Amino acid sequence: MCGIVGYIGNEQAAPVLIDGLSRLEYRGYDSAGVAVFNGQRLEVVKSKGKLAVLSDMIHGGADIKGTVGIGHTRWATHGAPSDTNAHPHLSTSERFAVIHNGIIENYMELKNKLISRGVSFVSDTDTEVIAQMVEYYYNGDIFDTMVKVLNRVEGSYALGVIDRDNPDEIVAVRKDSPLIIGVAENGYFIASDVPAILNRTREVYYPDEKEIIFLHRDGVTIYNFDHEAVEKELVHIDWDADAAEKGGYEHFMIKEIMEQPKAIADTIESRIKDGRVRLDDIELTAQQISDIDKIYIVACGSAYHVGMVGKYVLERLVKKTVDVDLASEFRYRSPLVTDKTLVIVISQSGETADTRAAMAEAKKLGARTLAVVNVLGSSIAKAADDVIYTWAGPEIAVATTKAYSCQLAVLYLLGIYMAQETGLLSAEEEIEMLRELLSLPGKIQSILDKRDDIQYYASLHYNEKNIFFIGRNLDYAVSLEGSLKLKEISYIHSEAYAAGELKHGTISLIEDGTLVVAVATQDRLFDKTMSNVVEVISRGATTLGVSKETRSDIRNTCDFAFLVPETDDLFMPSLSVIPLQLFGYYVASMKGCDIDKPRNLAKSVTVE
Ligand code: GLU
Repeated sequence: MCGIVGYIGNEQAAPVLIDGLSRLEYRGYDSAGVAVFNGQRLEVVKSKGKLAVLSDMIHGGADIKGTVGIGHTRWATHGAPSDTNAHPHLSTSERFAVIHNGIIENYMELKNKLISRGVSFVSDTDTEVIAQMVEYYYNGDIFDTMVKVLNRVEGSYALGVIDRDNPDEIVAVRKDSPLIIGVAENGYFIASDVPAILNRTREVYYPDEKEIIFLHRDGVTIYNFDHEAVEKELVHIDWDADAAEKGGYEHFMIKEIMEQPKAIADTIESRIKDGRVRLDDIELTAQQISDIDKIYIVACGSAYHVGMVGKYVLERLVKKTVDVDLASEFRYRSPLVTDKTLVIVISQSGETADTRAAMAEAKKLGARTLAVVNVLGSSIAKAADDVIYTWAGPEIAVATTKAYSCQLAVLYLLGIYMAQETGLLSAEEEIEMLRELLSLPGKIQSILDKRDDIQYYASLHYNEKNIFFIGRNLDYAVSLEGSLKLKEISYIHSEAYAAGELKHGTISLIEDGTLVVAVATQDRLFDKTMSNVVEVISRGATTLGVSKETRSDIRNTCDFAFLVPETDDLFMPSLSVIPLQLFGYYVASMKGCDIDKPRNLAKSVTVE
């Protein structure tokens, strides 16, 4: 995920691009660049770091002359954040410059093919393959060339292309990544999102997938893939700029909750091929997996809750003992780690100080380390023996939602992969599990579509003083996350308990009207959890049940129930956590809390 902007018109392009990018920086922030036709050549300036670094280098754009250009602020997926990997990318002859938002999934295959035909590459990105292909396949007709290129590409993209030898034109196209076209008095724009151009125009076209867009100085033409011109309705935008940066949502948190289907699909889809999990990014061999005598999962906060799910998943699939530990505890308790131990660390930012230190400790003791992180080139990613990236895109809200969900998805992939590599899964079992895994984004979407039910329930309970969450096994792991989500943003006191543990003490806290949220998605444990629900009801509790559509009998016990679609019990956490995220969000919203920046918290905890 990144921000892209392109401009052609009467004004100097570079300052317009820098201004537009500054309004998209929330989408990506590890490097930035612009390419402008300066009358002779495509002048490209790019730099690692925040947009301000680039802006200072070119005095806000004043140093570059020219009225057509493209700009990018990057959130790296392929290739570490660096000057070279920053966009725009040039073709070898420097004729074409390209910006890209998305992932070219088959870039390796395409790159190798071009290399075998003599093309050389300078960056590690997937994007450069587009620049090189446009040049390689160019036949004098850019429409034709784009069709040739796009027919060979798999993955997601919003692309902007400029041509040194035809500098009165920007070519753009999108598939599974956002792109809009802006129509202003002084020129035409492409951009990832409306805020980039809102101070210049409110008149926008929304192109459909794979329509090929041409911006000229005197207008915009849009063609379908068969080269037929398509008519579009010009849409007038009346949002205020601040709301627009959140894509129209009130908070980043709800925007990120809603982005989960796409984020999870991005994280899993390219890693599943022909009924098997392909983790090309890791080097862990089948032999090494067999030799592992013990697995630790080490993390903090929500990532620790992912670890709790991971324990159940890996123990069931990989048949090894798994311990989950808080990073701040792990490092100070002399863990029994040997060179046969696998230590999995999980961190959204890849900079979490406790997790970094815990991983360093584990390495010192000889363990093999595997990191699950969201930020490419982060400290934890660099130091780990193996890394599996979550492709959640930038997460802005302090309370994690989409990164949590993508971490879960990675743990599922890893569990299936380790079982697959050591022969613990039959081909049929694996195909069935992967089919279920691939269905999760659609099922999550169907839960999100029913978010009004949760909003209504939150409106009845936002004044609670205490809320308890209970569940068993995987449902307990999800309860921990639901409770944390609620308390960190709404400031309502909340506890999560293993349902069977309540009677050993905590049940004394249940009073008349206390809200207890019971997560009960595991068939094996359903009746046990319902017994615990009855125990709290007997002491006056009001209960919300979270279960699956096939267990609507939960309504016989709980006062209110929210049911998610059916899936393999092992994958239930991916679905049951969604109503809990929504509940925390709506409760905090009704209380008027500062949801994206809750008091006393920070996004990336880089202190011990
Ligand atoms: N996959 C591209 C890269 O890593 C684009 C990432 C983005 O959307 O910012 O360079």
